Amino acid sequence: MFELTGKVAVVTGAARGIGRAIAWALASRGALVVPTDAVVSSPDVGDSPAPGSGRIADLVRMNVTEAADVEAVFAGVLAEHGRLDILVNNAGITRDQLLMRMKREEWDRVLEVNLTGAFVCSQAVLRPMMKQRSGRIISISSVVGQMGNAGQSNYAASKAGLIGFSKSLAREVAARTITVNVVAPGLIDTDMTRALPEAVQAEWQSKVPLGRFGTPADVAAAVCFLASEEASYVTGQVLAVNGGMYT
Ligand code: NAP
Repeated sequence: MFELTGKVAVVTGAARGIGRAIAWALASRGALVVPTDAVVSSPDVGDSPAPGSGRIADLVRMNVTEAADVEAVFAGVLAEHGRLDILVNNAGITRDQLLMRMKREEWDRVLEVNLTGAFVCSQAVLRPMMKQRSGRIISISSVVGQMGNAGQSNYAASKAGLIGFSKSLAREVAARTITVNVVAPGLIDTDMTRALPEAVQAEWQSKVPLGRFGTPADVAAAVCFLASEEASYVTGQVLAVNGGMYT
């Protein structure tokens, strides 16, 4: 199920956390995955053979806010592999602050990485995908983009923006059999949530009907579905992976 053999995928922010899990899950279903991240020193994404028949290439440095970086990386992927089937816009940051105290640079930086980064990467893959007459663009939003969260107006705006962006792009490229979808995770156990104070983590967890934080693998499974042939009639959608915390 969700077989991806022969597909070439690029995942942003794949050095750790959810992005890393997505890269491994896509490869485990047969895809050749190029993991990318702003910093390449910390991670070990390509350190061992991928499970299944796929492959994970060495981690490539790509800061999604730097257009020249992005152009060069996608040109390199196309030159080396001859095609580009799946883009996962996963790179994301938080700079939490109540709006009263939020600095302009905290607003700008979150929007730049989370939303403009997805714009830059999606634009870079459109031409090859349109030529192929196939493709999958999947962006990682957040439950916060759907329900809002005090102290995260910048993050929520960026994640809600991804939803509007994807729904619009889905309509633009449907005629070329390219689908554009969003995965909206709830609370997932990664560095991003581990940075929250324990009391805040416990309070959030108490709001999840399934009673636990999600795992990066939970999110990756949803991405694999949307990337697969089985999801070929699904576009412009938001797939929530949130343990029921927002329906
Ligand atoms: P994470 O552990 O903080 O990982 C995010 C990755 O993105 C890091 O490797 C980071 O690299 C990279 N990144 C940051 N800025 C970048 C840039 N400009 N260009 C390229 N890569 C960049 O976060 P995560 O929890 O795995 O989250 C992954 C995605 O899921 C994010 O979009 C996040 O908003 C979303 N999400 C997470 C949760 C959750 O509960 N964890 C819930 C909903 C949605 P560095 O190491 O260099 O910072």
